[in-house]
Amino acid sequence: MDTTSFVKKSIGFETVEPALTPPPAKSTTLPKKPKLSGSKSKKKDIPEGLWTKCPTCATMIYDKELDENLKVCPKCSFHFQISARERIHSLVETCTFEEMDAEMTSIDVLGFKGVATYKSKLEAYKKNTTLKDAVITGLCKIGNHRVALGVMDFNFLGGSMGSVVGEKLTRLIERGTEKDMPVIIISTSGGARMYEGMFSLMQMAKTSAALAYHAQRRLPFLSILTHPTTAGVMASYASLGDLILAEPGAMIGFAGPRVIKDTTQAELPPGFQTAEFLLDHGLIDAIVPRKEMKERLIGYLDFLTVGKQAAKKAAAS
Ligand SMILES: [Zn+2]
Repeated sequence: MDTTSFVKKSIGFETVEPALTPPPAKSTTLPKKPKLSGSKSKKKDIPEGLWTKCPTCATMIYDKELDENLKVCPKCSFHFQISARERIHSLVETCTFEEMDAEMTSIDVLGFKGVATYKSKLEAYKKNTTLKDAVITGLCKIGNHRVALGVMDFNFLGGSMGSVVGEKLTRLIERGTEKDMPVIIISTSGGARMYEGMFSLMQMAKTSAALAYHAQRRLPFLSILTHPTTAGVMASYASLGDLILAEPGAMIGFAGPRVIKDTTQAELPPGFQTAEFLLDHGLIDAIVPRKEMKERLIGYLDFLTVGKQAAKKAAAS
């Protein structure tokens, strides 16, 4: 079987060549040009990029409305993917986010060469997402609480966890421990980053160990699972929260359903690996819609830090 056509498609999005190659003699393209002068017909063509179709209820949503609604379908509440920056903006008090390790980038430790080299992949994703890697970390204020916040972005190599994601999160957790702060990590990930092999897998142990030290100080860790949170990330820090929250409809799991079905040779129950299924079975604590997230987080933080705050007050008086 010839699979090269599939492979080429997966890296196709980083090329800009099609715009440069002149189209072969197509007489149909020429007569179209005069249409541009008719401004009315041009306006009718514009909405193409301004509307998004909801994959569950098929409603056409005006992009501006979708942005204002935190990328949640106003009709059926389907949660679209949201970038890390947009998410930080929706949760954090204005001008309080101090980013950490903003310039940290991955290097190609293994000299990975596949269909495309890891180096070229990194370059392409950096350019397309304006991110340096798949997580943004920093200290900030949510309500009256100073917290250490890490937010993953699925747009950067499927939110995969390599050395940089692991290191940035570990430093964030350590800073939280040092400064007596709760840690909040919002995950979305396809798992460990295969381009870094063992170096990616080591991040699972590293982040988990850092969280153990954080827990020893009796500081809360809130893990928020968004669509999708799977594999190496779910098998490490994402499932270690004192409170584990999820967004509605998020796919959460370790291996994919097909692998599990083949291994166990059993029929999987309906809704398997959704946030709702995991809530019913006690693996997560609550499902929180994106629009209520900030308010709910403040409530949880008030509750979880009540002892610490009382101790601080007593020490001060
Ligand atoms: Zn919808």
